Amino acid sequence: MGGLLEQLRSEHVLDASGFKSLLLCDDKALIDDLHRSAREVTDQVFGRKIFLRGLMEISNHCRNNCRYCGLRRDNHEIHRYRLTTEEIMDSAQKAFGLGFRTFVLQGGEDPAEDDAWVEATVGQLRKRFPTCAITLSLGEKSRESYLRFKRAGADRYLLRHETHNEGHYRLLHPKEMSLAHRLQCLEWLRQLGFQTGCGMMVGSPGQTVDNLVEDLQYIHDSRPAMVGMGPFIPHHVTPFAHETAGSVELTLRLISIVRLMLPKVLLPATTALGSMMPGGRMAGLRAGANVLMPNVSPVSARRAYELYEHKDPGAIDTIEDWKRLETNLRLAGFEIGIGRGDGLIHS
Ligand code: SAH
Ligand code: SF4
Repeated sequence: MGGLLEQLRSEHVLDASGFKSLLLCDDKALIDDLHRSAREVTDQVFGRKIFLRGLMEISNHCRNNCRYCGLRRDNHEIHRYRLTTEEIMDSAQKAFGLGFRTFVLQGGEDPAEDDAWVEATVGQLRKRFPTCAITLSLGEKSRESYLRFKRAGADRYLLRHETHNEGHYRLLHPKEMSLAHRLQCLEWLRQLGFQTGCGMMVGSPGQTVDNLVEDLQYIHDSRPAMVGMGPFIPHHVTPFAHETAGSVELTLRLISIVRLMLPKVLLPATTALGSMMPGGRMAGLRAGANVLMPNVSPVSARRAYELYEHKDPGAIDTIEDWKRLETNLRLAGFEIGIGRGDGLIHS
């Protein structure tokens, strides 16, 4: 087993059975070595710097009906909201004042936020914050829409592939959505020059260890700039209300494996990880993650952006919040990375 870890670290890939063995391994010492090794590689590439992204949840309206997500259109119990461009600019201004140099605009696929609106909002952000990176996470769009967003000044796009297995994708999504289209969107984004992020939930209903191996192979072959992974957490107004949540331990293991596969990748310790366990995000950083995405949305929007239950807002609203995070990071031997924190090109 130790040989597998050595091989992953030196060759940056394993065959399917190698990945499977690591994912199923119950040798605690070896898993500790895996995390340590992944952190060492992160330190070599990025040092102890952790990049912060200011996350704005801009709308919880969604035309889609993903079976796992609390924002799905058939959830009639949530209060729907969308931020105005002015509210987004105000939040960005506040976040900039605190020190953020990347803004992430995430939301459901809200039909009211058409291309012209996204373009104008991104354009305003680009103009007012020329030194900042703008990341979008607004779901599946046409190639033309992505091109408009890029030309308006967006740099990065997060679109988790969710699962690379066709059958599993169909279990998680209604039939009007398709894995092929999701992957097509990711390919367009890459071609258009976005720093692109894929990723998956860990422990989503029906997920097998073989599915995760397929995810790892896809991540290896597509060489994304970012990979977002967090445990699945059930939401009571979804068809998966009574399913079991994903495992923190397995999420940490996947973070370490992805780090060893792609040493230069940007890996967030996600909100879902923090929501499952106090200290979950810090554990993610120790396993090889190097990005945190604190919430900087207006307070009024936070409760309603309920992808899953008991979501930990992980917000930074004041300079005291920023300093507290800085102290917690320092106690764990990390520091806040100043600047945009762009990805590196995979060799
Ligand atoms: N609408 C966009 C962005 C918002 S959803 C999109 O779908 O890409 C952002 C991510 O939240 C999704 O990609 C999914 O991986 C995650 N998510 C949704 N529901 C979740 C749940 N119940 N548990 C954990 N993560 C969830
Ligand atoms: Fe909409 Fe994204 Fe939730 Fe799917 S995961 S229902 S696209 S917000």
